[in-house]
Amino acid sequence: MRANVWVKPTKVEVQEVPDPKILNDRDAIVRVTSTAICGSDLHLYDGYIPAMRKGDVLGHEFMGEVVEVGPRAAEKLRIGDRVVVPFPIACGACWACRQEEYSLCENGNPNAPVAEKLHGHSPTGLFGYSHLLGGYAGGQAEYVRVPFADVGPLRIDDADLRDDQVLFLTDVLPTGFMGAEMCDIRPGDVVAVWGGGAVGQFAALSARLLGAERVIVIDRFPERLAMAREHAGAETLDYSAVNVPTALKELTAGRGPDACIDAVGMEAHHASAMIHTYDKAKQWARLQTERGHALREAVLSCRNGGTVSIVGVYGGFLDKFPIGSVMNRSLTIRTGQCHVHRYLRPLLERIQAGDIDPSFVVTHRLPLDEAPTGYRLMKKKDEGCVKVVLTP
Ligand SMILES: [Zn+2]
Ligand SMILES: [Zn+2]
Repeated sequence: MRANVWVKPTKVEVQEVPDPKILNDRDAIVRVTSTAICGSDLHLYDGYIPAMRKGDVLGHEFMGEVVEVGPRAAEKLRIGDRVVVPFPIACGACWACRQEEYSLCENGNPNAPVAEKLHGHSPTGLFGYSHLLGGYAGGQAEYVRVPFADVGPLRIDDADLRDDQVLFLTDVLPTGFMGAEMCDIRPGDVVAVWGGGAVGQFAALSARLLGAERVIVIDRFPERLAMAREHAGAETLDYSAVNVPTALKELTAGRGPDACIDAVGMEAHHASAMIHTYDKAKQWARLQTERGHALREAVLSCRNGGTVSIVGVYGGFLDKFPIGSVMNRSLTIRTGQCHVHRYLRPLLERIQAGDIDPSFVVTHRLPLDEAPTGYRLMKKKDEGCVKVVLTP
């Protein structure tokens, strides 16, 4: 089959690779009909996530048709079912899964001892996201093996829903939603969102759905800011034009937003070329693994006693984290890889009800063979690129 594989930093390639096979009773094989490139795929592309190997199949946002099922997966899925597949791999039965903390599944990462060396404990494995997180082949491919297929995949019976409308249930929609949910929004709240990519857009939209009175989205690309104004009713700030903490104070009578969502993660840019270069140099010299500018700014901007919700992806260690601000001002930090399984049905219902049509983030559709072009577009944000959907 054809699949998009990681070759080396900043190089991916569509190659012929062996077809996936059922390895376990609970596996299914899915023929991919749509798959997306994620902002977090860029961290792999740029070489910031360790334990990638040449030939690893990328992609954790995919949906398609079940073409083969193991005997235990067959209790839940049939050949021909149309499914969306959550990006974390979860067994559904361990202690973490029973708490509905699926991205912390204790049985999903066969390489847990490696992750424990870096993180203390291991999170679960993810599709197409390094050998640190399981070494699973991803879904930017014609076919993919789905472990624990009796737990993760959600069947989409509604033929009226296009792939574009349900594909983002795999990651960016529930990730944005969880980012907003972690803010415990109360009526009248002001929520600021760093990052106008797909996760930031959905975090802003979700904050509105959860009752925020005002949502403020921070980015530097005019088309992303326009998207947030149009689809989430957000106010916007261009961080290349204003000092963000000062502007947020002005917009909130000096108090600061009640909650701040970091939907940027480890490759943040700074409006000051000097600070950006400093952070980037330290990242390359391995003195820090993260460029934490958005997170620092979220912490410093948040009102006293407010919540900082982190859904942007971080990989390791961050220098100059303002812990004094967090402690002395009673901030709450909440974070996590999304527990996608928890949100699948409720968010599908919101899509069916017409509350959300996630397809607005799609700016580019390409055949799978043009995945390398898609990665370049996403990275450079050329042509107003927010989200690339690939069709095998
Ligand atoms: Zn993703
Ligand atoms: Zn589990």
